[in-house]
Amino acid sequence: MDEEEPQQCVFCHIASGKIPAKKVYEDDQVTAVLDINPATPGHLLVIPKEHVSVMPQMSEDLVAHIGMLSKQLSHALIRALKVEGTSIFVANGVAAGQRAPHFLLHIIPRSPNDGVALQLSPAKIDEKSMNDVVSKLVPAIGKQLGVEIKLAKPEQRPVPKAEPKAEKGKLDELTEFLAGGK
Ligand SMILES: [Zn+2]
Repeated sequence: MDEEEPQQCVFCHIASGKIPAKKVYEDDQVTAVLDINPATPGHLLVIPKEHVSVMPQMSEDLVAHIGMLSKQLSHALIRALKVEGTSIFVANGVAAGQRAPHFLLHIIPRSPNDGVALQLSPAKIDEKSMNDVVSKLVPAIGKQLGVEIKLAKPEQRPVPKAEPKAEKGKLDELTEFLAGGK
């Protein structure tokens, strides 16, 4: 385990197995367990074994691994529990509602009218304020990624084509189901 693991961090202990939990998956980087206060049955917590509080502290490798797992565990939940979708979220920082001092990714099985309150209430914003956000954010994203960002002008964007019927057959059943096809 990480030497900097705080003695009092419950999620470090759950991830390492010192505190028992209903594990559903484990590898060298993460443990996935049932949330003991689930929003719906099957609500999973994906917990990094290394003590990290927030996403910026995570290695890109760990972020990529957790991203891949969020897809695969989500599909497994849909198949195993016969639910119709999942909500995947991270509270990144106290202002975002993060209560634990350890990074957690939630995967919540969803069904229509399941009463899970994750709906966002849209804020009103005008064109100037949106442009303001864009002008601050684009250079910051470039700096973060260490690249110069080139955004295609609207007329240079590829024109979206209606998906040919033949292509639809290539989607597997689950993908089609989630996309509202069948
Ligand atoms: Zn921890």
